[in-house]
Amino acid sequence: MPAVSVTPPVLAELAGKRAFVTGGGAGIGRAIATALTRQGVAVAIGDLDPKAARQAAEEIGGGAAAVTVDVRRRDSVEAAFSTVLEALGGCDILIANAGVSTMQHALDLTDEEWDFNFSVNARGVFLANQIAGRHFVKQGTGCIVNTASLAAKVGAPLLAHYSASKFAVLGWTQAFARELAPKGIRVNAVCPGFVKTGMQSREVEWEAHLRQVTPERVVADYIAQTPLGRLELPEDVADVVVFLCSDQARFMTGQGVNVTGGVYMT
Ligand code: NAD
Repeated sequence: MPAVSVTPPVLAELAGKRAFVTGGGAGIGRAIATALTRQGVAVAIGDLDPKAARQAAEEIGGGAAAVTVDVRRRDSVEAAFSTVLEALGGCDILIANAGVSTMQHALDLTDEEWDFNFSVNARGVFLANQIAGRHFVKQGTGCIVNTASLAAKVGAPLLAHYSASKFAVLGWTQAFARELAPKGIRVNAVCPGFVKTGMQSREVEWEAHLRQVTPERVVADYIAQTPLGRLELPEDVADVVVFLCSDQARFMTGQGVNVTGGVYMT
């Protein structure tokens, strides 16, 4: 396989913009924060884990700020967004990426597991979108990218609750995009497939346990389902998010863009 490109040419229109990335302390969010920083965007990394946010900000460089946030709570998102406005002198881009997953057979799912997935994945996106969206409408410009999932397009076994919460993210993205389009704000989503992150290693362990197979078998099955023939990397998602934030995507809104190596094609 060819090497993954992580240094796309600089998109002049992004330089000098300011972005808030939730769940930026690890995995896909961290790769998005890195890719935006490479484009000259000033980034604030929001995460539930303050140490992860701080470490990511230090390692990414470019003056990145670290902000502690729990996207499940309105007061926390409001406080974090105010801190971002202060730290960066404003905000032009929101990446609502924070998410969680747990694995369980639908028939064994508990109310707590359902609520946990919905509170981070669905309410977390709603709160961050609404709070940043109000600011963007006031300033007359802004761009939002939400991290949905392949599981927002097809119901995934052992992930019924996660799938349902990610379908909610896409429904919200489409409706919010329609409401904000007349105000000049674009709202899109990315739908990654099987991405090599901490979330995925936890899922691999759970799935191996629930299917009574080895973790290696689970990973081999992911790859076998992927036409492009390898596991997805966080950078594969990040480069598409940069595109969606740029003027290159100026006529795109309300989209759930698949970045799955061809696992899902419509
Ligand atoms: P990850 O677990 O590696 O990183 C998620 C980050 O979000 C962590 O730093 C975590 O501390 C933070 N976070 C969790 N709960 C939070 C909260 N309440 N408030 C603020 N931050 C919180 O996960 P990842 O794989 O990078 O996933 C990122 C996004 O991509 C998620 O929305 C996930 O559902 C989605 N996604 C992941 C995959 C995959 O295969 N890894 C596939 C499709 C979609």
